[in-house]
Amino acid sequence: MTNTETDNRTAPSRRQRPVHELTVVRTEPIGRHLVRVTAEGESLATFGDPDLPGLAATDSYVKLQFGDATRTYTVRSFDRAARRIAIDFVVHGDEGLAGPWAQRAQPGDTMRLMGPGGAYSPDHGAAWHLLTGDLSAVPAITTALEALPGDARGAAIIEVETDDDRVDLRPPAGVDVRWAVNPDVTDTEFLARQIAVAHWPADRTSAQVFAHGERESIKAIRKVLRELEVPRERISISGYWARGRAEDAFQAEKRQPIGQID
Ligand SMILES: Cc1cc2nc3c(=O)[nH]c(=O)nc-3n(C[C@H](O)[C@H](O)[C@H](O)COP(=O)(O)OP(=O)(O)OC[C@H]3O[C@@H](n4cnc5c(N)ncnc54)[C@H](O)[C@@H]3O)c2cc1C
Repeated sequence: MTNTETDNRTAPSRRQRPVHELTVVRTEPIGRHLVRVTAEGESLATFGDPDLPGLAATDSYVKLQFGDATRTYTVRSFDRAARRIAIDFVVHGDEGLAGPWAQRAQPGDTMRLMGPGGAYSPDHGAAWHLLTGDLSAVPAITTALEALPGDARGAAIIEVETDDDRVDLRPPAGVDVRWAVNPDVTDTEFLARQIAVAHWPADRTSAQVFAHGERESIKAIRKVLRELEVPRERISISGYWARGRAEDAFQAEKRQPIGQID
């Protein structure tokens, strides 16, 4: 690779992305621990850089700004014509910035964000899809389900703490949605056990997997996917958060052994 090619490939990621300053127009609970915040702003007319991966992905995400700190959230929906974006936040108690902010958010509040990024979209040629994670991945899983072709086959297996955490999903007829209720948050292998006994096709090489959520739970899922011999290139997998860590610490740990999934 020549230097010029290197420069061309890295230039977009070095570009300073604009901060979009938006106004909250609506908040609504969409489950026991999920709240949808809808915000609008004229600058969304230019949201999404055509040179970068992002909005086209079903796991498209933004960085929300809270003072000096940022928090990462999936774009649940975006309407350029209306200059409107919606984000679904897990309400997880009084700790942290984004969750408590979303719980208290009111129309008229300001929301600042940068982005989007994103990488995964369902491969319409995949013989079988697994979409899995916890509530934090429900926005991305919902968007992926909406993007699947009508004849898609697969399973969405979602770990929640209570029955009331289920939200309304509209999968294609051939995709089973299972809400796996686990009230014991210390059991980080719970979701991996469900995945191990899912109705996988005999040939896993043409399956596609999207697995994101709490870090330790995702590590356990990675081990099962290895045992099932799902090819690495067919898997989108990462921790979205880590229990007991604010996002800043969680992101910093990605560079250390404890933070690595693979
Ligand atoms: C690409 C990507 C997309 C994401 N999309 C979404 C999304 O659409 N919706 C969403 O809700 N989250 C999403 N997340 C996860 C979100 O960024 C983290 O949960 C983040 O830590 C929340 O910030 P906070 O300020 O509320 O809590 P922090 O200040 O980061 O953490 C404070 C405490 O709360 C705990 N905590 C954080 N998140 C959770 C949780 N979900 N459940 C229980 N305890 C928690 C932490 O372990 C810590 O102890 C995404 C993450 C990534 C990387």
